Amino acid sequence: MPEGDTIHKVARALAPHLEGKPLAFFTGRRWGFRPQLEGVHVERIRAEGKHLWIDFAGPLSLRTHLGMGGTWHRYAFGERWRRHAYGASAWLRTMICDLVCFDAAEVELGTRLQLAASLGGRVGPDLMQEDPDYDRILERVRAFQGEHTTVGEVLLDQRIAAGIGNVFKCELLFHHALSPYAPPTLLGPKRWQSLYREAASMLRANLPRGRRVTVPPDARHGLVRLWVYGRERRPCLRCRTTLERIYCGAHNRPTYFCPRCQHRGAPCASSIS
Ligand SMILES: [Zn+2]
Repeated sequence: MPEGDTIHKVARALAPHLEGKPLAFFTGRRWGFRPQLEGVHVERIRAEGKHLWIDFAGPLSLRTHLGMGGTWHRYAFGERWRRHAYGASAWLRTMICDLVCFDAAEVELGTRLQLAASLGGRVGPDLMQEDPDYDRILERVRAFQGEHTTVGEVLLDQRIAAGIGNVFKCELLFHHALSPYAPPTLLGPKRWQSLYREAASMLRANLPRGRRVTVPPDARHGLVRLWVYGRERRPCLRCRTTLERIYCGAHNRPTYFCPRCQHRGAPCASSIS
């Protein structure tokens, strides 16, 4: 699933091709009607957490959420699409190119008011925004943490704060020496706030970069860019212990971790099967 910084990068990449441009054609596979937006200008493209909004002149917007397998492509006229047209969730044509969103988990067209209402409480403060509302994030941690069994699941819950995906979840747990099994009740408000502040700075630091980096240059070994994510069976950059990967949480997402450095909240060894 894309992280929040990915969607901001998508918004930046699409903006020069869409903002201020009139649409020559617009359709989506999942609507039972053909929206009449030809000639309407695209006003603005914005990212909020993992949601991408395309605001048209007037009241309408298109909201997409890429989920696990969605992606945006840009094509010159006549260029062969790299994915099957059946997977096109939304297709926007300007006078110079086609922009196609494939296989989005969510795609919704409506007035901005309708779309905001349908999202309701599903999206917490966006960590990519300047000065996120940490008090509100802490309120939401209190409200929703009871639904989760681990700190990692809380971090992925977009209702609490929008933007953290599985890569940054793993890196944050490592930075805070938290076991992937650490229960949410282990942390007090100060530690939660520090986790979310660090998440915001990681996400923002990675916005201008092509590839995600969490390891500072002076601690880097060769081309390693991330402390733990994707590095199972390789040595921890801090203690040389072999990193591990487990699958846990409601969505069974992989969590990469160092069993030695990430000791806080670890269950006793006998309870791990
Ligand atoms: Zn370690």
